[in-house]
Amino acid sequence: MATDVQAQEGDQVGPGDEWGSELYRIASNQFDRAGALLELEPEFVTRLSQPRRALVVNFPVRRDSGEVLGLTGYRVQHTLTMGPTKGGFRYGADVSLGECAALAMWMTWKCALLGLPYGGAKGGVRCTPSTLSAGELERLTRRYAAELIPVIGPDRDIPAPDMGTGEREMAWFMDTYSQMMGHSVFEIVTGKPVVLGGTTGRREATGLGVVYVTEAVCERIGLDIREARVAIQGFGNVGAVAAAELYAIGARVVAVSDATGGIVDQDGLDIPAVARWVADHGTLVGYPEAEHVGPADVLEVPCEIVIPAAREQQVTVENAPRLRCELVVEAANGPTTPEAETILRERGILVVPDVLANAGGVTVSYFEWVQDHQRYTWDELDIQERLRRQLRAAFGRVTDAADRLACDWRLAALSVAIERVALAAQMRGIYP
Ligand code: NAD
Repeated sequence: MATDVQAQEGDQVGPGDEWGSELYRIASNQFDRAGALLELEPEFVTRLSQPRRALVVNFPVRRDSGEVLGLTGYRVQHTLTMGPTKGGFRYGADVSLGECAALAMWMTWKCALLGLPYGGAKGGVRCTPSTLSAGELERLTRRYAAELIPVIGPDRDIPAPDMGTGEREMAWFMDTYSQMMGHSVFEIVTGKPVVLGGTTGRREATGLGVVYVTEAVCERIGLDIREARVAIQGFGNVGAVAAAELYAIGARVVAVSDATGGIVDQDGLDIPAVARWVADHGTLVGYPEAEHVGPADVLEVPCEIVIPAAREQQVTVENAPRLRCELVVEAANGPTTPEAETILRERGILVVPDVLANAGGVTVSYFEWVQDHQRYTWDELDIQERLRRQLRAAFGRVTDAADRLACDWRLAALSVAIERVALAAQMRGIYP
């Protein structure tokens, strides 16, 4: 009753609990801390603290057996201020509206930090992709694409791959959208196969970007990356590419893991051999010539650099006191909880935040989108050079802000991004 009276008297009514999730709590906590540091005007806190738009869809998919599966899909667009929205879609059993909302907010900061003309978005379907056949996944992807038609478009919202999705799903997605429009629309998604308007270098972009950022950070803190021992959690699109590139430049990759387990060798793993094993067996389990540990144990292996490249909330209050490294490079989105980050800070372990460390993916997605619009392709060297330059420039903005605001790199990165978006929001004003 008291709430009704307050509302009638014109007080602000707080948000509902629609985004409620642990990941959204983490994203909001980070936004609040950066906002406080910047003394962000309440107007911009209001305008940026919640997603601008979300679509939830429930749809049927026919299984190969004839049975019908009922699935829920999401697409969240965090801000429409910076241009079209951009962000991947994932398939997983934990996908939820709150998770997508948090990931969409991080996409906004990532794009703003890199100076890309996008707001953030994220989507996904709540499912267990490993239990679905290729045919079922195709029907699922095509139906999900069709359900999103009201909110997506090459100049409205451009999806991309994320966990559990890749080039194959992007091709189906692009084809479905194109069938509905009556002509090929390559620029509706990024991360497509090259033959369908994808860009050379997109598949490797996130992992490669992780390494470019790590190199820049090592130069700054006086660590020779070729002398460094590195442990990587996650051996998928991001983790396996980062491992291969680090191995190629001479770093010692001492541990890697996937969802099934981890392997450790303090003398350095033969990463091409590990990749061949995974290609042949689908898992790290059984890989010879290494000590076998649990999937999360690799985070605690003694080394200079830990790269969580699997999923969110892996460095927690429980294991943060046991990390034995100098640097955590967040290749995954949201791998460190705020409470764990406090412990790492107190222990003098530097954290390179996700919005910088894994921004290589969206940066090359942007290159792909530009090439699709231009109908003109760039070569791989050109792409790698531009990527390296943009990531190094972004790291420079982060270190400048960290010096100016006397804060850590995460708050610095978020501050650069939030300042940029808030300025754009201020200049656009409020409609009507
Ligand atoms: P992926 O599905 O290709 O690979 C994920 C890997 O993590 C797999 O090897 C899986 O076995 C492993 N894994 C899952 N749970 C694990 C656990 N508990 N312990 C150890 N390993 C585990 O996904 P991806 O595309 O490599 O994405 C990984 C992370 O990077 C995600 O957080 C994603 O949001 C983020 N990211 C991806 C991109 C991209 O371009 N793919 C871009 C930016 C950020």
